[in-house]
Amino acid sequence: MTIHRLLVAAATLLASACATQIAPPADIAIKNVNVIPMTEETVLTGRTVLIRDGHIAAILNGRPAATARAAKVIDGENGYLIPGLADMHAHLGLILPWDGDPSRDGKAHDLCLYLPNGVTKVRNMRGTPGDLELREELRSGLLTGPELLLAGPSLHSTLPDSFGPKVTTAAEAEAVVRAQVAAGYDLIKVHNQLPQPAYDAVIETAVALGIPVAGHIQQGKSDVENARLGSIEHAEELVKMLGEDKDFSDAPAFLNALKASGAYVTPTLIVFETIAEYLDDDSLAALYNAPETSYVSAYWRRNMAAERNFFRQSFGENYATQIKGLNEQSAQHRTLTRQLNDAGIPLLLGTDAVGLVAPGFSTHQELMLMVKSGMTPFEALQTATVNPARWAGKTGAEGVIAKDAKADLVFLSDNPLENISATTSVVGVIKSGEWFDRPRLNAILDQCREPDVE
Ligand SMILES: [Zn+2]
Repeated sequence: MTIHRLLVAAATLLASACATQIAPPADIAIKNVNVIPMTEETVLTGRTVLIRDGHIAAILNGRPAATARAAKVIDGENGYLIPGLADMHAHLGLILPWDGDPSRDGKAHDLCLYLPNGVTKVRNMRGTPGDLELREELRSGLLTGPELLLAGPSLHSTLPDSFGPKVTTAAEAEAVVRAQVAAGYDLIKVHNQLPQPAYDAVIETAVALGIPVAGHIQQGKSDVENARLGSIEHAEELVKMLGEDKDFSDAPAFLNALKASGAYVTPTLIVFETIAEYLDDDSLAALYNAPETSYVSAYWRRNMAAERNFFRQSFGENYATQIKGLNEQSAQHRTLTRQLNDAGIPLLLGTDAVGLVAPGFSTHQELMLMVKSGMTPFEALQTATVNPARWAGKTGAEGVIAKDAKADLVFLSDNPLENISATTSVVGVIKSGEWFDRPRLNAILDQCREPDVE
């Protein structure tokens, strides 16, 4: 080694030693907190979590001296820290008749309900050009809210044009997928009944361009064909495809195809469970009296009332006779959810929140339904943390509490691994390294409460 190289090596060593000593202090230190990292089922007790530049800089044992150099120190008061939650099936601002582009006000209203509920990521399942602008405003910090993942306008062959592009040939399908990738959408949404050549072209083009596909079950196609969708939405549609009263012991081909394709399933339980409640006067009154309903948009509070209720009207005059069957269907959806989970199929939490199902609040209801289906609280939490991260190709970088992971965190007073309802005990939220304490979260909620309209 020449003298010159020796000098360079010595200088490098010195520089790195100095770098360690003068490492910039953390932006935030949370001391005295129990960490649920979600990398495995464990609680790391009595930790200090350091956050710097929107990422987790360190997770330390006890209360080290580094805490003193943090710009902001939060006393965790022996509470629990979990990764930020994701709602992977949302429809921001959606109103009847379900098509078209919801208003910006409607979307902003729904967006406002997520952070106060610990939801730091939302996958909007039918995006529009307006949503691309909204995503930019959220990214740049102009707007406060969750990270937004956007599906493009829905691909379909039989719906009104207002739902999205009609796709009937392979050439049309390829062109639409390419256009949506170029526009900047995060995933492709397949709605219903694409002819086989168009369906093949959607899947193949998406794979070639590296964009995920999510979709509704294509009822005319085999279960193995449907397993090619990277993310299958709604347990309801899976039960329809497999046949009621069936379980997965009757569908090994589908299960194996799901495993082979690495597909995820988003059961969306809460939105369906609520339909039966609209049809019974007492249940409907209870829904209206639930505290979270006061945050539902004025549009839905007005339009789900007994005399205008969409579901009562669509079932016709004898709507009440549907209640028993709907409750049985809900039980089947939960059974299917547990069977998929037991079989090792990764699930994504999605609420499909519309009507009186409140965005944000319903994330906790969906977690509770997953546990009711027989999943453990840890397994339910995986569907809203590590699984969405893995679906997006961000394993280890998001959805976990680990060094260098994104600092999207929820601070709870109670342990959700003991009782899943503890996810509602939100004391504070960190979004991209920014701290929101409970008073600040309540102020956000107050702003998005809409007055009644007649
Ligand atoms: Zn949907």
